Amino acid sequence: MIVMKFGGTSVEDAKSMQRVIQIIRKEQSRQPIVVLSAIAGATNTLLNAARTAQEGRLDEAILALNNLLDRHVTLMENLIDNRTSVQQIIAVSRRRLEELRNLCNGIAILGELTNRSLDAIASVGELLSSQILSEALRSQNLPVKWVDARTFMITDNEFVTAAPQFEIIDVKAREILAPIVSSKTIVVTQGFIGSNANGITTTLGRGGGDYSASIIGAAMGAEEIQIWTDVDGVLTADPRITPSAQKLRTISFREAAELAYFGAKVLHPSTIFPAVKKDIPVIVLNSKRPDNTGTRIVSRPPKTNIPVKSIACKRGITVVNVQSLRMLMAYGFLESIFSVFNKYETSVDLVSTSEVAVSLTIDNTATLDKIIAELSTFAEVSILEKQGILCIVGDQMRSSAGVADQIFHALKDINLVMISQGASEINMSIVIEESKIDEAVKRLHEHFFEPISATDMFEPVGGK
Ligand code: ADP
Ligand code: ASP
Ligand code: MG
Repeated sequence: MIVMKFGGTSVEDAKSMQRVIQIIRKEQSRQPIVVLSAIAGATNTLLNAARTAQEGRLDEAILALNNLLDRHVTLMENLIDNRTSVQQIIAVSRRRLEELRNLCNGIAILGELTNRSLDAIASVGELLSSQILSEALRSQNLPVKWVDARTFMITDNEFVTAAPQFEIIDVKAREILAPIVSSKTIVVTQGFIGSNANGITTTLGRGGGDYSASIIGAAMGAEEIQIWTDVDGVLTADPRITPSAQKLRTISFREAAELAYFGAKVLHPSTIFPAVKKDIPVIVLNSKRPDNTGTRIVSRPPKTNIPVKSIACKRGITVVNVQSLRMLMAYGFLESIFSVFNKYETSVDLVSTSEVAVSLTIDNTATLDKIIAELSTFAEVSILEKQGILCIVGDQMRSSAGVADQIFHALKDINLVMISQGASEINMSIVIEESKIDEAVKRLHEHFFEPISATDMFEPVGGK
């Protein structure tokens, strides 16, 4: 069996959903489990409606929800021919939206919006889209069963960024999904959403649909995990920055994990982890051009001597400089610093140290004031905001001389705030001012990948 995950851009309207149905039909014999995202923009609309309600603008929130329902109704009417099916699914959608309106009403009255409510509201996007797809497949005579992901995607209680409980999921997913799959019925379920042990809805964090697909694939021992999106595969850089980005034919799990972690939005940062554990290939494919072979992410890609494969970048980074109050770093200094970040559950991306100082980067500044106050009891602290990270990735970087020189040359007049050769030796990460990120990515891309030519490793976007 295979897992096929379709992102929001693959199900934005009836035309794109119809394409998705064709793709699923083609793979029917491989016993697909389909994991679906909300239609494009729906999650943002839902979360904004919740915030608008909290700010007391209930009418505005309700209007946004009604418009979202209209979008779904138009989608159903254009997609499903059978009038009875359409009426049924419209009724289901109306009920879900009614629940949402009540929730927003409560939020507006209390003026309080908890993460638990945010998850309850966000989950509706995936529930609606998956019910529509399921009904559309049925109306086209495909054997299908809609499964509520909250019955098996069990997580902890960290609403908004819930952690999946792998052992329980393994058991529940097999128990619930295996009989459906073996009866040659297509499973349609939701990405992104889960529930805690008490059955309360949680979510895996924004963009978490990819992660869901990988978790389900690993639990079910899938042959492959397909991530269908709106680009040809994993590209040499974000195509929104460098439209000339090329497609990578194959990359390693390690390369993909670094790229995803450092900002390549095409994959949620946690996607690779479950796939690696079971050594299941992850294939990134374009639902708008389904004949393209996509990018294969595997444990051992074919050997190459190309040092740099791709460039990722992340914005909204804060650098925290921590200087020891003594002349030298005392024993235990690093531990004291990290224990503060630990205490406030703030993860650190890059670290570089000198004799007396440590620089760290974080992207979550929710508790930064408390972190600074606590660090200041034993060190001098300064902050640099509006920074960005460039991440240059390639398995062969560790055995190639001169790559750093080329990187620095390409960035020669840009001030490099921090430099870190990743511990895995397959990436180099550089902190620069956020406003210079686009320019830096363009220059690095031009140096390492242009002019474009098809090779064993790369392929111009738009090819087969
Ligand atoms: P989906 O809705 O399918 O989950 P996303 O918007 O989350 O789609 O991810 C796909 C987008 O990721 C692409 O449209 C592209 O703009 C962006 N992206 C950023 N970096 C890369 C990269 N290195 N390769 C491919 N796409 C990238
Ligand atoms: N719909 C969710 C989001 O927009 C999850 C996903 O698309 O992967 O974040
Ligand atoms: Mg995504």
